[in-house]
Amino acid sequence: MARKLIVGNWKMNGSLAMNAELLEGIKAGLAGVDCDLAVCVPFPYLAQCQHALEGTGIALGAEDVSAHAVGAYTGQVSTRMLLDFDCKYAIVGHSERREYCNESDELVANKVQRALAGGLTPIVCVGESLKEKDAGLTEAVVSRQINTVLSVLEEREVCDIVVAYEPVWAIGTGKTPTPEMVKDVHALMRELMIRKNPDAAERVRILYGGSMKPSNAEEFLKMRDIDGGLIGGAALKASDFLKIAYLASK
Ligand code: PEP
Repeated sequence: MARKLIVGNWKMNGSLAMNAELLEGIKAGLAGVDCDLAVCVPFPYLAQCQHALEGTGIALGAEDVSAHAVGAYTGQVSTRMLLDFDCKYAIVGHSERREYCNESDELVANKVQRALAGGLTPIVCVGESLKEKDAGLTEAVVSRQINTVLSVLEEREVCDIVVAYEPVWAIGTGKTPTPEMVKDVHALMRELMIRKNPDAAERVRILYGGSMKPSNAEEFLKMRDIDGGLIGGAALKASDFLKIAYLASK
């Protein structure tokens, strides 16, 4: 994969003042960044961030999207609404939504399908819990999650997704798997996608997420099959986010 992708997931953080400062800091350090960058922000701040990112080349994304096109779904946000704010990406199936909002593999797959149909690039999150890892189920869990998504996609659509492998036990904990472990899981996922569409070998970016920070990013980003990062905590500090972007630009 030629160009890496670094995506910030702000989660439920931010304020008008904090976002303005963070994005000003990122914009001020873009010289020397030679990778694709995006920030996925809370819905209320899409308009602010769209405006702040205009002309920067940094893409905007949401942290979730509805599986429905339009209608009586109180509190949900549609693909078409996100496109009104020039969103390119929507994170789908983040483990925090799977856990706290009971999102099933099937719902995640429906969201991916809806996002693609509407012209967004879904960033599909998968990953095993600590219990599943300890039981030796990492490959089985990740395969099930990816295969459920693949089962609803047309062959041509496979190349239009981004995948993020995020072991649940690594998110926000400071713990990380070894880069070799991540590389192996990424290779497995790529193989599953290639079975459906051989072009996925070159065209699908698979990101690693889970406590990635400036001090450990390089060891992940230099691995084959790791095409970038989905960054939580370190995306809230401009200098940390930029350092990861510089490492992804090497
Ligand atoms: C995330 O929430 O997607 C994430 C990777 O978080 P953190 O970097 O804080 O572990």
